Amino acid sequence: MNTDRRFLFMTAGLLLLFSLAVMINATINFRNFSIQSTEQKAELTADIVKEGLTTMMVNGTIKDRDLFLGAIRSPESIRHLWVIRSQKVIDEYGPGLHREKPHDAIDRQVLETGQPVKQLTERADRVFYRITIPYIASSNEEKDCLRCHHVNEGDVLGAISIEFDITDTRIIGLTTLFRIGLITLLFLLAAIFVVKRLSRPYLTFFKELRRSLSRVKEGDFSQSIYCDTRNSDIRESATLYNTLIKKFQDTIGSVENRLSSLLRHNPTRETDPLQKAADTIDTLSKIQRFKQTIENDRSLEQIYGHLADVIRMELGANHFVIYAVNPRRNTREIVYSTLKNPPCSLKSLEDADACRAFRTETLTDSTEFPTVCPLYAGEFPYYFCLPFHIHQSAIVIMILAKEAQTMEYYKGRMHLLQNYLENARPVIESRILMRQLHEKSLKDGLTGIYNRKFLEELVVKISSQSKRGVTPYAVLMLDIDRFKSVNDTYGHSAGDMVIRKLAEIILDSIRKADIAARYGGEEFVVLLHKSSLEGGRKVAEKIRARFEATAIDIGEETIRCTVSIGIARYPDQGDTLKEVIALADTALYRAKHSGRNRIVVFNEEGEAPAPESVGPPPNPDDRPA
Ligand code: GH3
Ligand code: MG
Ligand code: MG
Repeated sequence: MNTDRRFLFMTAGLLLLFSLAVMINATINFRNFSIQSTEQKAELTADIVKEGLTTMMVNGTIKDRDLFLGAIRSPESIRHLWVIRSQKVIDEYGPGLHREKPHDAIDRQVLETGQPVKQLTERADRVFYRITIPYIASSNEEKDCLRCHHVNEGDVLGAISIEFDITDTRIIGLTTLFRIGLITLLFLLAAIFVVKRLSRPYLTFFKELRRSLSRVKEGDFSQSIYCDTRNSDIRESATLYNTLIKKFQDTIGSVENRLSSLLRHNPTRETDPLQKAADTIDTLSKIQRFKQTIENDRSLEQIYGHLADVIRMELGANHFVIYAVNPRRNTREIVYSTLKNPPCSLKSLEDADACRAFRTETLTDSTEFPTVCPLYAGEFPYYFCLPFHIHQSAIVIMILAKEAQTMEYYKGRMHLLQNYLENARPVIESRILMRQLHEKSLKDGLTGIYNRKFLEELVVKISSQSKRGVTPYAVLMLDIDRFKSVNDTYGHSAGDMVIRKLAEIILDSIRKADIAARYGGEEFVVLLHKSSLEGGRKVAEKIRARFEATAIDIGEETIRCTVSIGIARYPDQGDTLKEVIALADTALYRAKHSGRNRIVVFNEEGEAPAPESVGPPPNPDDRPA
């Protein structure tokens, strides 16, 4: 039931109850009044009869008492009237007339008790009221009963019974009741009409208010209130409300717009601008915290670790890999992985462009085409790769799932990840630049390979590895033979060209996992990853032979040079890499002294390295050609 009707029913109900109470009260009052007035009338009649009969007795006309009683009985309202004698009076004066004996039980009761008895008899058509009043002997000055009666004071002398017909009273009562009912009904209708008229604008106002507020709850502030009423209170309230929600609409709308513009990826379906603003603020504050955290990170690795935390937190993903793609070096490095065997981790790492997400700069999604990326050969059936380009390089985040539904969930939350990356871009960018700068400081300007500083940092790093996890290296120490004379004969820039050529040959002769560094002027150190002394010797021989065979173009002419190489192995021959480099240097020294253009493998036991030396026999006059 709506408020309108409920209000009306309640008002009508209350008025009806009130009317009923008034009518019941009036009926009871009227009835009591009627009985009371009939009783008074009966008492008066009893007194008149008593006085009349006493006077007649004194005057000696008592025998005509029927005439007197007939006159008293004459009004229509008195249906019956009779007087009876008590036994004491009968004993004194005889039984009297026939009618003066007790008529019924009431008469006898009154004579016995001396108390009046009243009886109301209601029939459908008529109403009777009977009252029987005793005459009690008294001896006051006015009426001294004891003068004529030999009885005691207080004795019952007789009684009078009067029966009234009060049907008229009932009719009058009912008519009155009907009139009151009619008036009440008219009043009720008038009251309902007035209440309805007065309450309608208020009810309309509340109805409109409720409609608008239910829209506001959904985030729609455009629903103003319209009330066509002359009631100034309501008009004023409606205007105030409309102004308020208009303000809300304008303010929240613009706040939400400005906030949303701070997030590039915001595909939310939320229509409530308040909720939208709250969500955006929440996302921005999380992103801000992320930014502050990674700003304090000391390395890119730590940043990637925090990015992994974001992936877990925002996407709820547990299986993912983060790749750092460097197109300049043409590499794709795994910088974070939750998997033991991450996909795309083998050969493809050496070809940045092989990564579809990186190349196309768009999301690579297996839920669209299962074979979208030919490179992917992981154990998870569903994946997507999200590329994020940062300053000539990129991060590719691969998220994996076992079920398409989970994948859809991740995709639905991907924009959060994009916002984090987007906002953290300057920090990641500056970290990459810093790393590049640092890398530059570790490179040799002449040859482009690592310098001694890098080697020294690396030596510390490798030597700090635990004994169990240590990576073995074959260490080569190279020195160009009689280089001074190249400089002296052809000039310093020709010498530089020779150094560059040897660096080129070294890089061309080693694998990606091996490390080559320029150690000094024309000295180089090569660390051959997981290589034996024999393997090291083979690589060294390759370098030596290629260098010897190369005619170096120094401008107007070409020259040939040779190189001597010393070899040692880490960790077999020394506890630290530094020690092993020194052993390789010792072997190099021996190579120089045993004639140059040769290789000497460091042998702890043997002083004579001859059996392991390769190259042409010693020639003291060996000079560059
Ligand atoms: P050995 O066969 O015993 O090694 O004789 P060497 O003449 O090569 O002797 P040494 O190794 O002592 O000579 C190194 C020379 O390399 C000395 C220095 O003038 C020259 N040098 C050092 N750095 C550079 C450089 O960057 N460019 C050029 N052109 N020469 C350099
Ligand atoms: Mg030297
Ligand atoms: Mg030299």
